[in-house]
Amino acid sequence: MASGIAQLAQDLRARKTTATQLALAALARARARADLNAFITLDENAALAAAQRAEAALAAGSAPVLTGIPFVHKDIFCTNGIRTTCASRMLENFVPPYDAAVVEKLSAGDAVPIGKANMDEFAMGSSNENSYFGAVRNPWDATRVPGGSSGGSAAAVASGIVPFATGTDTGGSVRQPAAFCGITGLKPTYGRVSRYGMIAYASSLDCAGVLARSAADCAQVLAALAGHDVRDATSVERMVDDYVAALSTTPQGIKIGVVREYFGAGVEAGVGAAVQAALRHYEKLGATLLDISLAHAALAIPAYYVIAPAEASSNLARYDGVRYGHRCADPQALEDLYTRSRGEGFGAEVKRRILVGTYALSAGYYDAYYLRAQRARRLIAHDFGEAFTQVDLIAGPTAPTVAFKLGEKTSDPLAMYAADVNTVAVNLAGLPAISIPAGFSDGLPVGLQLIAPAFAESRLLAAAHRFQLATDWHTREPPA
Ligand code: GLN
Repeated sequence: MASGIAQLAQDLRARKTTATQLALAALARARARADLNAFITLDENAALAAAQRAEAALAAGSAPVLTGIPFVHKDIFCTNGIRTTCASRMLENFVPPYDAAVVEKLSAGDAVPIGKANMDEFAMGSSNENSYFGAVRNPWDATRVPGGSSGGSAAAVASGIVPFATGTDTGGSVRQPAAFCGITGLKPTYGRVSRYGMIAYASSLDCAGVLARSAADCAQVLAALAGHDVRDATSVERMVDDYVAALSTTPQGIKIGVVREYFGAGVEAGVGAAVQAALRHYEKLGATLLDISLAHAALAIPAYYVIAPAEASSNLARYDGVRYGHRCADPQALEDLYTRSRGEGFGAEVKRRILVGTYALSAGYYDAYYLRAQRARRLIAHDFGEAFTQVDLIAGPTAPTVAFKLGEKTSDPLAMYAADVNTVAVNLAGLPAISIPAGFSDGLPVGLQLIAPAFAESRLLAAAHRFQLATDWHTREPPA
């Protein structure tokens, strides 16, 4: 089995390997699996320079656990001197002059980035088919999608190229690809990790997250990422828990609310059955299951697909062909510069979102769409608050289906949006959630989603870890 963070950290300290060897091996695996299209950029020079710093830190002693561990950043995080495309033609040649907070934090601990992962353009998508650099393939079945938008990150971890990857989750983009690829994906509370330098999609929903092989590994990475940042006004000034220590606190007698609506129409029988079996396993471990209802669950998709495009239409206004990003050839006048630069630079789904968002925010329709969506958002958040007066965690399938076929939903945006039916509410409410491998359906991985109250990442990680100590779904690997 591909090693997790703890094992690699131990091997480095026992001098069974070096950071340089780990980096070169990860790069070799990445090249050998070019068929997955999981990477937009591989940067051997940057990786080797980071590996050398890691070796010096390890030799000096007292290096943090991520020192020398290879990983990949989703190509949405700005990396100083390394191209950052957001999988868009608009940013095809953009080389940021600074690092995102997430990048800084992992560099500070001398973790070793080997490159930038493929993704849906501007993180808009649920299948990773919206990338300017082509679709990513699912390591379990190359004819299927890896999920999106952090599909490259998920495929890179699931195929054993790297033990962890960064991702972002605006409506499910860490959890859903984790579920489709049979790995663990953590979306922290909104504001727990700085968004500084993370290219904006929908600012009130965007969260940096982690994709790894286990909850224990997610805890290690979250420990490195969490914390207040004055450069992100929505980052929260609040003490950071010791997530790693929390793993060994055995949660006794936790109450898990099983959301009726998350098993509704559209959920494949095999997915529902695997998740129910996983929940029965939790019962055996001492948890109490309660049947609960989130009354406004059905409003999550419509509210999300108004709010997210509305914010996106504003955030993406900055790509005007003037300051940075793609510029059309020989602009004739200002309007021609705008329209052709944006027309050429953005893909079809991004344009759709800009149109929907601009429409929803326009003077005549603001009250009818945007304001109503905000009201629905409030009701959805309230439902969670009510539920958490009765239960410690909330559970259901991460996604209604297993990984679907490439091309299956590309001509039907609404069917594609429905893939997010169980994940978007969590972002609307700003809560932390995790997807953990919970079994298989038709030979493809199924994810169990656990949701916790704001800032209860420790509870979430401990509960996921408890399950992973008792089961081996998270150790299964796709055929090489
Ligand atoms: N699939 C959702 C969307 O397309 C969520 C994407 C995300 O979380 N970045 O908006």
